[in-house]
Amino acid sequence: MTYDVVVVGGGAAGLTAAAYAARAGRSVALFERQARLGGVVQSVERDGFVFDLGLRAIESAGIVLPMLEELGLRLDWVRSPVSIGIEDQIIRVDSRASLEDYRGLLRRFYPGSADGVDRILAVIERIMRDMDVLYGIDNPLFKDPARDRAYLFGTLLPWMPRFLATIGRINRMSGPVEALLEELTDDPSLRSIVGQHFFRATPAFFAMSYFSVYLDYLYPRGGTAALMRLLENFVREQGAEVRTELPIVAVDPETREVTDREGGVWGYRSLIWCGDLKTLYRSIVIGAFSDPRLARAAVRRREELEACSGSDSVLSLFLSVDEDPEAFRAVSEGHLFYSPDARGLHDLRTRGLASLLAELGDGEFPLEGLTAYLDAFFARTTYEVSIPALKDPSLAPPGKTGLIVSSLFDFRLTRRIREAGWYDAFREHAADAMISALAARLYPGLGVKVRSHFMTTPVTIEEWTGNSDGAIVGWAFDAPRMPAVHQMQWVSRSVLTPISDVLQAGQWAYSPGGLPMAFLTGKLAANRALARRGR
Ligand SMILES: Cc1cc2nc3c(=O)[nH]c(=O)nc-3n(C[C@H](O)[C@H](O)[C@H](O)COP(=O)(O)OP(=O)(O)OC[C@H]3O[C@@H](n4cnc5c(N)ncnc54)[C@H](O)[C@@H]3O)c2cc1C
Repeated sequence: MTYDVVVVGGGAAGLTAAAYAARAGRSVALFERQARLGGVVQSVERDGFVFDLGLRAIESAGIVLPMLEELGLRLDWVRSPVSIGIEDQIIRVDSRASLEDYRGLLRRFYPGSADGVDRILAVIERIMRDMDVLYGIDNPLFKDPARDRAYLFGTLLPWMPRFLATIGRINRMSGPVEALLEELTDDPSLRSIVGQHFFRATPAFFAMSYFSVYLDYLYPRGGTAALMRLLENFVREQGAEVRTELPIVAVDPETREVTDREGGVWGYRSLIWCGDLKTLYRSIVIGAFSDPRLARAAVRRREELEACSGSDSVLSLFLSVDEDPEAFRAVSEGHLFYSPDARGLHDLRTRGLASLLAELGDGEFPLEGLTAYLDAFFARTTYEVSIPALKDPSLAPPGKTGLIVSSLFDFRLTRRIREAGWYDAFREHAADAMISALAARLYPGLGVKVRSHFMTTPVTIEEWTGNSDGAIVGWAFDAPRMPAVHQMQWVSRSVLTPISDVLQAGQWAYSPGGLPMAFLTGKLAANRALARRGR
């Protein structure tokens, strides 16, 4: 059977690509290695508690809502307000005016670094103005300017010059956030608290836009995966064939066929690869190319990608708690960024981690050094805490609350711990340390109220999605050379590969990745595939 479009990977990007290709009347087959579609965006129900395994809230970024509108899809959204906390002090972020509360919070903890705090806030304020431009209009990709004259003349054309100026500033701030913070303050604790919940070497502009993002968060009733279910239903209704638990293991670019794990062979006119990109190049049958230049290009790309790592990953603890949600509402909003120790991680995530990994090596596993590292890490990292029942009360049994507590965490360390046979003990140790960090000042007595818990780690994410290094937003930012398009003005090229009938989309195609860019690249890839019909 030959399809106009074969989509590999049923995450946000794959669902989007399949949705647009099927809506245009093309024959589409979507292959997903897991039983459920949605990729890293999943919500699970356990004993009446609904937990989001992936992202905790959704930022429209001028993309998500316009895309749903274009597809004629409706979702029941609630706002997902954010709080920020350090030790025993929490502020609520409900408008731009909350920036002053944030300034006050930082000044209270770092009284000797008031100038540094002001410089950081000045950068955030300037970037917020740029974000108003960047995400201030519905993304033109999801509109039809040729038909929608009001959008074209009233919105798009007046916006273009401001957008181009903003792009210039974004490109000038593409260096790592750590370097920017070093310019702004010489206080290592202040730098840590402001910067440690970003991926290592996140481009400064994107990191420091966090205050704008906090004001833009939405939450779908029923959990974040409700958005994926909506797209999945749409894809099926449009007649796409959806095959789950069926990974694609080989791509023959010459015959334009993919082979699934069970040996099924499927032809395509366009292939849109929306999963891990190292897997794509490992799956391409290089010997099949009749053109040696194409074969060499595919091998070069494979080698280039193999030398690169995925972004930081996440460790998440899911707690079912015998406590009414209102007790948590008295502390913060349902989405909280919390640092239990104002000293912050300092170099624990960089030099501390590197020396621990060297110490762990391949030989004897020194538990003492590891537990000391873990205890310091979990006491001083920044946690993202999400409380689904504060956004949608139906997401926990009456009188009880589910908490999702996560921190960025290193994939290599997790894998090394597992290889050493210490994975279960590690997860218990990490859970205890995380609960203690929260119970110390934020939720006194939390430990005795936890009924049950489970954890996902960077290794879980890798197993779950096949994403190298458990990455959640594509390539690591500290690679010597970013192997994906990373400048907004070139975004339309991000979906191209050296093989003309093979397109790519999703977190590995454009950097920085994330949910809105997965949608955007999914549609860009579908558009390219639709334009290729008949060849
Ligand atoms: C805890 C967490 C928090 C996050 N927070 C945010 C946030 O605040 N903001 C934000 O923008 N983003 C956030 N993200 C990231 C965002 O959710 C992802 O970047 C985005 O959803 C990626 O979508 P994707 O389609 O590119 O890839 P994925 O979701 O990884 O989907 C890829 C799919 O391809 C499938 N696949 C892979 N190989 C094959 C194969 N050979 N055959 C068949 N199927 C295959 C996989 O099983 C998977 O389902 C977060 C993610 C996590 C996990």
